[in-house]
Amino acid sequence: MSDLREMIRERLGAIMTNPLRIPNVTCDVCTGPVPSPYARCYRCHTDARREAVPVARRVVPLTYAVVGTQADRDMYRYKDLMPAAQRLRNPSYQRLLLLLLGFADAHASCLDVVALRPVTGMIVVPSLRGRTGTHPLATLAAALPSHWARAELRAALGVPESQRRDLRPEHFILPDSAAVLGGHIVVIEDAWVTGGHAQSAAATLLLAGAAEVSILVIARRIRTDFQRSPVEASLQRILTDREYSLDICPITGGDCV
Ligand SMILES: [Zn+2]
Ligand SMILES: [Zn+2]
Repeated sequence: MSDLREMIRERLGAIMTNPLRIPNVTCDVCTGPVPSPYARCYRCHTDARREAVPVARRVVPLTYAVVGTQADRDMYRYKDLMPAAQRLRNPSYQRLLLLLLGFADAHASCLDVVALRPVTGMIVVPSLRGRTGTHPLATLAAALPSHWARAELRAALGVPESQRRDLRPEHFILPDSAAVLGGHIVVIEDAWVTGGHAQSAAATLLLAGAAEVSILVIARRIRTDFQRSPVEASLQRILTDREYSLDICPITGGDCV
């Protein structure tokens, strides 16, 4: 346990960044930047207001990935095409695995405490790009608690690129809805840009009868490459020189509950 904490400090400290939960600075759903005095970013605000489509209120990113940084490159490189044995030695893959191992060890039980009911199961969001074989995200997700029952979600065929970030539960198919009925299901996603992909998966589960859905995201991507807003600039100033630590709970942004 302390070995894991130390390894995380050494290998992730300078690269990953704990998401912040600061009212009117970061979105109270996705931890992205918000223009003061708003509580939520525009996308989380509008997605939560779609009456026919229920979404997850609890979104838990493990790190920020600011565009152009190593953390952001990791989010692509971990899933580059390569033989499985080589992937296990890939530094990007190893860093994401450490993030998930740290979460499983130190904070997975915090999800049980803050929710109305303990976590019963999990699903990994499938790619809408039609990738074949086991997705590296599914391999990483094996690090999550073994008592979370694994359920399967499939991608609908032929979703156009232009719609992949929309909030549309019909993008996913749940072959066995009994597996989620009445449970608290964790949706596992690698990167959050707008949240449309993960929230569509959450909506599929909620419409199928899941009682509660939490979304676990490896990285909340922060764009700074175009039209950088004053909010993003101020968030980046806050983020400078912070060292990633397993001591900060990704669910509360501070101490564990
Ligand atoms: Zn948001
Ligand atoms: Zn915690």
